[in-house]
Amino acid sequence: MPEVQALAERLEDRFAGSHLTAVEPLSFSSLKTVTPAYTDLVGQTLASVGRRGKFLVFSFEGADHGLRLLVHLSQGGRIDLPPRAKATKPRGSVVRFRFDRDPAILVKEFGTERKAGWWVLGPRDDGPLAKLGPEALSEEFAAAIREGGDGGRVHAMLRDQRRVAGVGRGYSDDILHRAKLSPYESLKSMTREERERLIEAVRSVLTEALEVERRREDGLPTKIGDHFTVHGKSGTPCPVCGSELRRISYESHEVTYCPTCQTGGRRLSDRRLDRLVR
Ligand SMILES: [Zn+2]
Repeated sequence: MPEVQALAERLEDRFAGSHLTAVEPLSFSSLKTVTPAYTDLVGQTLASVGRRGKFLVFSFEGADHGLRLLVHLSQGGRIDLPPRAKATKPRGSVVRFRFDRDPAILVKEFGTERKAGWWVLGPRDDGPLAKLGPEALSEEFAAAIREGGDGGRVHAMLRDQRRVAGVGRGYSDDILHRAKLSPYESLKSMTREERERLIEAVRSVLTEALEVERRREDGLPTKIGDHFTVHGKSGTPCPVCGSELRRISYESHEVTYCPTCQTGGRRLSDRRLDRLVR
């Protein structure tokens, strides 16, 4: 959420009120919709750029009858803002949007794991936004944590965009570390006080990251850097207690935690290591 929210704010500052003059698809299969045609966007006036979950939402004028353009950067998607006269197609280019002013917006990606995509939505069509859960900073999500009773792991819940929109893996690690909760904890077994700690950690971790992201300028560079506290830092000392941070490895991701702060000193089983031992 923080990266995309701050990016949406920068794009709105630059492009709100401008006319879209050209849309150039540059990669096969990244456009996820057929109708309306992407060429229908040409000539439209951009009213606003917002965010929902991890989607950038470009809304075009026409009250509630306007078209919307969604861009999802996934893991490796980035945004360049090149001069609009520039027609080169850098490696990994996905789509370029040109306006009646400089610069252009070039969506590109690196890596192969997960693909950036874009959608053109007609009036009253929410497309993939319809499947998203409440925003992480919303009262609706806080209520779901206070009242929820499901037995699934809370780390998986935070990563699931249908349960809560815009958290993701890295911030899930940091949020649970700040809340001093095990990644294997579930809502069902959490006390009222633990639930409040979780809500507060979601708010403070994401708000602090947003403040850092708002210092960025222009698009979103290939090397985003990171401002995580524990995510991706297993093997290094916990910044709170000094214990060595541990990880649980899965096929597609890993979860980092502090045994002292979060699990009462217990090491959680690492499935990949367990498999090797067997
Ligand atoms: Zn610790």
